[in-house]
Amino acid sequence: MTSKPIYVTQPFLPPLEEFEAALRDIWDTKWVTNNGKYHQELERALCRYLGVEHISLFSNGTLALITALQALRITGEVITTPFSFVATAHSIWWNNIKPVFADIEPGYFNLDPDKVEAAITPQTTAIMPVHVYGNPCQVDRLQKIADAYGLKLIYDACHTFGVTVGGQPVLNFGDLSVMSFHATKVYHTFEGGAIVCHDGAMKQRIDFLKNFGFAGETTVVAPGINAKMNEFQAALGLLQLKYVDGSIAKRQGLARRYRERLRGIAGLSFLEDAPGVVHCYPYFPVLIDQGCYGRSRDAVYEELKRHNVFGRRYFYPLISQFPTYKGLPSAAPGNLPVAERVAGQVICLPLYSDLDPADVDHVAGLLRRT
Ligand SMILES: *Cc1c(COP(=O)(O)O)cnc(C)c1O
Repeated sequence: MTSKPIYVTQPFLPPLEEFEAALRDIWDTKWVTNNGKYHQELERALCRYLGVEHISLFSNGTLALITALQALRITGEVITTPFSFVATAHSIWWNNIKPVFADIEPGYFNLDPDKVEAAITPQTTAIMPVHVYGNPCQVDRLQKIADAYGLKLIYDACHTFGVTVGGQPVLNFGDLSVMSFHATKVYHTFEGGAIVCHDGAMKQRIDFLKNFGFAGETTVVAPGINAKMNEFQAALGLLQLKYVDGSIAKRQGLARRYRERLRGIAGLSFLEDAPGVVHCYPYFPVLIDQGCYGRSRDAVYEELKRHNVFGRRYFYPLISQFPTYKGLPSAAPGNLPVAERVAGQVICLPLYSDLDPADVDHVAGLLRRT
């Protein structure tokens, strides 16, 4: 029995003195929100770091998702994945749009393009895939389907900070990509989020929408919401950018260590890096096949807890199993067999930049024994 609890994640925070200096500056200027200088500087810095053309900062990722659907005037039905954090489908629901769940592929647990195509109806207007656990979707195939059927493509990119595929930032695929900078993510601003888009007119529309629709002091061009990022979040974000490469490198080292320690355990599998992809290592999911491993995923989850190790069963239950969604035809039992299997087998192990490598060994040791 270890003494201190090991949680699934722990936010990285920069040296307090650095944040204090920013706080003092904000106190002096008394500009605390509404497109202040830290906000403007962070938008520029993130565009450079991420290799994207335009970014609009938000107070959180969920409001960014909701606003992305508004910005493209999406209606009718949106095809999405059941294997994600619940906010993905909630953003669709909050827009009075019907989510249609399609199954995931067994390799990286992202939306299966064949299943997406099969789910298209005359009411479908968009696809909202998630690059789950930071592994890029089959972006070319999804774009082909979107083009062939005249659909918009909005990526929930909340897990893919700085991820590239074939040298291309994954954020540049699709019409819009939505990010979250919540404290549990690889890069965070306490709470925060963003929409990445590809042209200035769209960036302007999104900026209006996140600020009540104001296009000038007395001009309101749309029924917007208040989803602005404040100066404290933006100032933290600028500091975090200095440290994020180091954080990701540490996560990569820890993920490799988990793989070395866990390789060859019967009934336990994990994801390898995808070819041509630069990863950000947001989670370390493992799948427990009860028949082969000898114990169920839930038994493993409870056993780890008894040893003060708090893994999380992301993403169980499936979104399609929550009361809001389970009556939908696409949520019917048997329609999402891969997602159902993965949700029943997955557990995410502790992974964060300050995690002690000895703790990785300890957790892996428990999985070998249990
Ligand atoms: C974190 C997350 C969100 C929500 O972001 P918030 O900033 O917490 O609102 C949405 N989708 C996915 C896949 C996420 O992981």
